[in-house]
Amino acid sequence: MERVWGARDLAPLYNHKRSPGEQPVGEVWLTGDDCQVANGAFAEKSLAEISRQLGRELTGEAAPQPQRFPLLIKFLFPREKLSVQVHPDDEAARRAGQPCGKTECWYVLAAEAGAQVALGLKSGTTREQLRQAIQKKRAEELLNWIHIRPGEMIYADAGTVHAIGPGSVLVETQQNSDTTYRLYDYGRPRELHVEQGLAAVKLKTNAGKVQRPTDHPEPKDGNLNLVSSPCFVVNKRHLPEGKEHLITRHMPPSSVQVVVGLEGEGAVAVKGGEPVGFSAGEAVVIPAAFKQFSVRPERQVEYLHVTLPHDDVGHPQTILA
Ligand SMILES: [Zn+2]
Repeated sequence: MERVWGARDLAPLYNHKRSPGEQPVGEVWLTGDDCQVANGAFAEKSLAEISRQLGRELTGEAAPQPQRFPLLIKFLFPREKLSVQVHPDDEAARRAGQPCGKTECWYVLAAEAGAQVALGLKSGTTREQLRQAIQKKRAEELLNWIHIRPGEMIYADAGTVHAIGPGSVLVETQQNSDTTYRLYDYGRPRELHVEQGLAAVKLKTNAGKVQRPTDHPEPKDGNLNLVSSPCFVVNKRHLPEGKEHLITRHMPPSSVQVVVGLEGEGAVAVKGGEPVGFSAGEAVVIPAAFKQFSVRPERQVEYLHVTLPHDDVGHPQTILA
């Protein structure tokens, strides 16, 4: 997706450079409705089509709507500030005729020194103060800007005013919604949605850097839970050469699962199926009907494993620092 704030060079994830006449690329969508399957029996069909066709066999019992793919995963390449924006929660989205709201998270794959994101309003800020700051083109001053570092996971639940600064590569996992209310754009000429946005803003949310529980330090087997929330679970795994990872979803509800390559190459296999190879920047979608699959490294591989939560998972513990 071309974006004014995007990058001209997507290395090391993609071998893709923009020529001078082309717009920069801001986002690479891996599991959008229009993303097409690359191989196998469903090759060239879109995720929206196969979600309608297969329903819960693909999306799982955990999906809020069986015939809509529940997770939107993207790589973001911000080279300039993204607009200050907010997404509605499920209830507000449905009132506006949209299928769902948007809670999201960003895994920091790379970050230059000084890279920042903004999450929520500074404590004590009112909606009216935000409205006035938007008019005076000073809205960014009312936000909590925090530094980000590689390996961190940032959580932004629906209703959180947020922005992303330049100088990072992020893996975004979110509810499959494209409803964004742009509140402020640093004077760039893009359309704003101030009234809808102000109505969707929550003054207090659960956003921040996800805290790792102190009784669960970095595990030796290389499997790390980055975030668990009501809308998604994201784990990270590094597999050295020769080590296979068997992933089993024991408990209901069933869920679609997605493997996203971050570094190196590997293959995903289900019982009785052909292994599907993937490399950094690619995603493999495992239908919910498969309760078990394995990931094998080709030499070494690092990947995210994204899925829907089991029942009764709350918001993660976060800090704003
Ligand atoms: Zn957003």
